[in-house]
Amino acid sequence: MDYIQSIIFLLLAFAGIGLFVRNILKIKRNILLGKAENRSDNPSKRWKLVLRIAVGQGKMLARPVAGILHLVVYIGFVIINIELIEIFVDGIWGTHRYFGKILPSPLYNLTTGTVDILSFSVLIAVTLFFIRRNIIKVPRLNSKDLLGWPHMDGNLILIIEFLMMLSLLIMNAADFTLQKKGILYSCGFFPVSNCIFNNVFSTFSVESLYIMQKSAWWFHYLGVLFFLNYLYFSKHLHILFAFPNTYFANLQKQGQLNDLDSVTKEVKLLLDPNADPYQASTEESVPEKFGVSDATDLSWIQLLNAYTCTECGRCTSSCPANLTGKKLSPRKIMMDVRDRIEEIGRNIDKNGNFLDDGKQLLGNYITPEEIWACTTCNACVEACPLLINPLSILIDLRRYLVMEKTAAPSELNSMMSNIENNNAPWQFSQNDRANWTKE
Ligand code: SF4
Ligand code: SF4
Repeated sequence: MDYIQSIIFLLLAFAGIGLFVRNILKIKRNILLGKAENRSDNPSKRWKLVLRIAVGQGKMLARPVAGILHLVVYIGFVIINIELIEIFVDGIWGTHRYFGKILPSPLYNLTTGTVDILSFSVLIAVTLFFIRRNIIKVPRLNSKDLLGWPHMDGNLILIIEFLMMLSLLIMNAADFTLQKKGILYSCGFFPVSNCIFNNVFSTFSVESLYIMQKSAWWFHYLGVLFFLNYLYFSKHLHILFAFPNTYFANLQKQGQLNDLDSVTKEVKLLLDPNADPYQASTEESVPEKFGVSDATDLSWIQLLNAYTCTECGRCTSSCPANLTGKKLSPRKIMMDVRDRIEEIGRNIDKNGNFLDDGKQLLGNYITPEEIWACTTCNACVEACPLLINPLSILIDLRRYLVMEKTAAPSELNSMMSNIENNNAPWQFSQNDRANWTKE
């Protein structure tokens, strides 16, 4: 019978991991629909950033309560996955706690004890996260950006994590009770699960304990496969994408805006008395579009940013435009970009290549009112724990409105005309600038 279990285990593993790989490849395809941008410079600085921000959670502790709880969940998930290696070995070979037999007892006890304590810590942390979100109702987790699916997604993740940790604790406790009864090979150290469940479990029959141990083991395993595939539909993709997103982050000085290469080139040609005027109008110097109107006009980095966003709302809660009641929310900007590129991806899946659906990011998802509400203060970028840059997207959308549609607000248009005519934002001639000294 054991070999049937192993076959079922393997079939489920192939199906779960296969589906996960397929979905990740779809996301990769969607991200690469973005425009090329080279971020391969300065690899040592980039790796340091990954270590500090993604591995070391360097920006999370800016908000200590959420930061510490997140740290517990993060460390817990990394270390608890050691247990998963044993689950896979046992599942494939039909063994019981294989490493308990081959590893030195102190090492195995240290590992199982750490996993047991961390499972309980994660369980407490996700419970507190759930309370913050649903009972205390922290404003940034209950704003209108998150109405509907995003709010439900946040709760579902916490519930899945809670159930997975609970199943691990039940499995350990039932296993340990069977070990104490001499039914299973004795190994491992389970300080928390044994403490919580010992009184109840010691009254159970061997059959009941065996069923509980096996059920919890399968539940945890199926939970892992489910979670892996749920990631595709969830904001929780950041547990994978935080690393590449940090590696490819913008290394320029904070707040420095990039220039449009095509415009820079034009201006340089204009200012160079020795320039060949015909060089300015060669085909490659004229971009097909200035700025961004749809998700595929964004760079692949900006699309990777959108898939990495955890919807934590730290950006929105730091945004002066949002705080003063404007329609703009940088978190929503990132969510809109992801929704739109996903929509484009589904269109490609269905039709083989993209068929015009009459929609675009600008207008259908993000309105000019949101775009022009931004003060370009960079607070959202500063606040983001994952080095995501909503401002760069707003700037690119503005560039499209100004350069392709001449649709800037009238105040800006007159300011730009003044700069063009008077070399200053005011409507007075340069020659009159010093008039005040004569008054
Ligand atoms: S840069 Fe714009 S979107 Fe970001 S915080 Fe400032 S006003 Fe808000
Ligand atoms: S952009 Fe960053 S700060 Fe804003 S919601 Fe996403 S992860 Fe949080």
